[in-house]
Amino acid sequence: MIRGVWQRCCAAAARGRRSLRDYRERSRRFFAASRDQVAAANLRTLWAAAWVLLAYLTGYGIVANLTLRSPVLLACYGAMLLADGGFLLAARRFRRRMPPAKRIQTVCMLFVAAVMVFTIAISVFPFARDPGIFYPLAYMMLSALFTLPYSRLMALMSGVTAVYLTLVQTCRLPEVVVFDRAAGASTWVLGSVFLFLISDLRLRSGEAQLLLEEVSRTDSLTGLPNRRGAEAQMPAGFRRCQKARLPVTAMMVDVDHFKQYNDCLGHQAGDDCLRAMGALLMEFSDRWGLHAARYGGEEFLLLLPGVDGGEAERLAFRLLEEVRQLALPGPDGPVTVSIGAAVRLPEEADTLHELVQRADKALYRAKADGRNRVVVQIWRN
Ligand code: GH3
Ligand code: MG
Ligand code: MG
Repeated sequence: MIRGVWQRCCAAAARGRRSLRDYRERSRRFFAASRDQVAAANLRTLWAAAWVLLAYLTGYGIVANLTLRSPVLLACYGAMLLADGGFLLAARRFRRRMPPAKRIQTVCMLFVAAVMVFTIAISVFPFARDPGIFYPLAYMMLSALFTLPYSRLMALMSGVTAVYLTLVQTCRLPEVVVFDRAAGASTWVLGSVFLFLISDLRLRSGEAQLLLEEVSRTDSLTGLPNRRGAEAQMPAGFRRCQKARLPVTAMMVDVDHFKQYNDCLGHQAGDDCLRAMGALLMEFSDRWGLHAARYGGEEFLLLLPGVDGGEAERLAFRLLEEVRQLALPGPDGPVTVSIGAAVRLPEEADTLHELVQRADKALYRAKADGRNRVVVQIWRN
């Protein structure tokens, strides 16, 4: 009987460890994937919270200092006012020119720490006989204010709790120490659970948002990025070449006589053909370090960073050959593609859009010249 209970406890502990490991991994992935969005949202919160704090410190601060007349309280409010001014200035600078996400996250942590230090100071020092009533309220509000990893928040809030309990133990009178100790400890316990629930909710909603974004940028038939995905990913590759003064090539690949393929073999067979073509292009682009996307119906776009005219032509002919080797049966023999490529050593004012337009023109020429061929156009001034 005892052995059975022990085994069940061990199994439950193992399950708990596994869920914790999963949760940590999900959280790590989420914060890595949405670093910039999370930082931008936290910056908005920091800006609003610093203004609200300023209003509180001036409004409630004037009333409290006039009625309670405590020099220690006045010093605490003064110091917090200065610190809040600093946070407002930092947030204003960040809003004008976005710094690295890590810096915003650090400043948000500092804001939480600063307000908690202020709350602890006004709870412990000015009125030795009265229990601190603001501490639990501030703890709950501040810990849930920003989107930060749960482990980091818990480390910060545990540190805050340790400081509070130590100060309470050493500085408070016996009649209130019991109350403050109980408030500090129960706030930490309840706060940990409450914060976990909020962090979990935010994590789930963030993951759903990421999934939605991924789905909206992926072509469901081929698994390649769709046009929206291409527009989100490819400009960065183009800009890298622009900055590094490297050549860049855009390649349009279009299936020949695909309407006829559909008309003769049916739409389902047409879909299978596009799927096979997508798989080939995905493998081809992975092999050569290119970016591929399904740009339209039976049209695919490849971006080849660092690829000049000679290399572009070699790769295009290789692709044509691989499509031939795939030997997908069509109504009049194996399916073929036409390829139009535009190559450019990009200048400051050039755009990816223009390069793709030129690749499209080259594709028209390949079609007009009889299909199943490659046309490479070097874009010169
Ligand atoms: P060309 O050689 O000049 O490119 O001729 P084409 O027939 O391939 O070009 P056209 O633009 O006339 O026809 C494209 C066809 O592609 C028409 C459309 O029905 C088909 N198509 C577009 N998207 C899909 C799809 O997702 N599945 C299937 N099965 N067919 C599609
Ligand atoms: Mg076509
Ligand atoms: Mg087409």
